[in-house]
Amino acid sequence: MNLNFIVFGAPCSGKGTQSIRIAERFDLIHVSTGELFRNEIKHNTKIGQIVQSYIDKGSLVPDQIVLREIYKTASLRKNRHGFVFDGFPRTLHQAITLDKSLSNKGLHINLAIYIDVENHELINRLNKRCVDSGRTDDSLDIIRKRIEIFQEQTIPLINYYEAQGKLIMLSGMESIQAVSVSIISAIEKFLSSNPQKF
Ligand code: AMP
Repeated sequence: MNLNFIVFGAPCSGKGTQSIRIAERFDLIHVSTGELFRNEIKHNTKIGQIVQSYIDKGSLVPDQIVLREIYKTASLRKNRHGFVFDGFPRTLHQAITLDKSLSNKGLHINLAIYIDVENHELINRLNKRCVDSGRTDDSLDIIRKRIEIFQEQTIPLINYYEAQGKLIMLSGMESIQAVSVSIISAIEKFLSSNPQKF
């Protein structure tokens, strides 16, 4: 069985941590576009030099670059079980393009997991991360911009995946462990009650 999940949520919603846990539980490959880009920047590659200016400003990296990099990574790292895409897709255009390219391979996104965290809690968490993450895109102004972009460009994915009957929306307000438990049990429930989708 091939499973492809996407995980999305605002900056500091916990999507990175939860994506890793989901990947471990279902034996999937975790692919984070943010991590991929930070790695390119760290190694000062050509792609790293191009994406740095976007990331540092809190803007989205252009779709063309994101799509090229994600396909390259996915084809190098594929396994027989599938992927957890973390932070990708982030725009409707990316989601539509991903669906088309998966369907060309006889594959599809099985589930989109949205981790919902209220704005005041996001700001609390983001303020803390500003102090200790060392990320260049974690200053307060940039974070505000990233939240705005998330609301404008990524929130529309909720309707997109809901219309396909693939959305799981969960609160990310509890502890990491409590959120993990509810995500894993929601996925298991979905898998057992919608076997035709897998
Ligand atoms: P993240 O680690 O997911 O918070 O991503 C960090 C930054 O990388 C984002 O603020 C964007 O600048 C860039 N990025 C990551 N994923 C994408 C994507 N799917 N589309 C466009 N930009 C992205």
